Amino acid sequence: MVTSRHTYVVLLGAPGAGKGTQAERLESELGLPHIATGDLFREALKKETPLGLRAKSYMDQGLLVPDDVTVGMVRERLSKPDCAGGALLDGFPRTVEQATALDALLAEAGASVTVVPYIKVSTETLLARLAGRWVCPKCGAVYHMLYKKPANDKICDVCGTALYQRADDTPETQRKRIDVYFQETAPLIEYYASKGLLVEVDGERDIEQVHDDLLAVIRDAMDRAG
Ligand code: AMP
Repeated sequence: MVTSRHTYVVLLGAPGAGKGTQAERLESELGLPHIATGDLFREALKKETPLGLRAKSYMDQGLLVPDDVTVGMVRERLSKPDCAGGALLDGFPRTVEQATALDALLAEAGASVTVVPYIKVSTETLLARLAGRWVCPKCGAVYHMLYKKPANDKICDVCGTALYQRADDTPETQRKRIDVYFQETAPLIEYYASKGLLVEVDGERDIEQVHDDLLAVIRDAMDRAG
């Protein structure tokens, strides 16, 4: 049974489409925790946990971490009390196998995916965005040296920490991640469209416009579910 007690939003889009940037804002507006599997892996890597060390070689090459590892990590994260009302998923699912695992996992809690906004962006734009991306290692805020500059040179506006470029944001790895996206993740567009859950949002526009569209799409789905 699907109830309005749960809202699970799957943000779909290629690396560089703007999922993280948008999720940062939506998190507080919707009161849903932002769960980014890439951030969870990077945190585990920083702490040198077995999970982090296992994920490292895949991440460094721009490849996907195996589904069993990723699904196990998400299962654990979704069982935390802050996810009682749902979550904003960013970077998960990334394969059809992960999507079916998510469906099964939510079904155990009497829930299901509420809506899947698909942030659509051309490959050219993706590469330009990934090339200028700088990230805060402390709070995870995402910047772009052309489109979303920090107020002070390479210092996080939120917490004052020095920004860095992700190790997997080199040109070769970016290409690889986009190829992997088209092969493994793009089939999810059809998967969610066939379930009537996909809503396309034009991600080529500026951050504010994309945000407004996403918020409207998600609120509309929440109203219909509730
Ligand atoms: P992201 O920050 O979402 O771009 O993710 C960075 C890297 O973490 C990816 O290139 C993958 O190596 C790994 N990763 C993140 N999410 C997933 C996922 N759902 N499945 C498999 N690997 C993932």
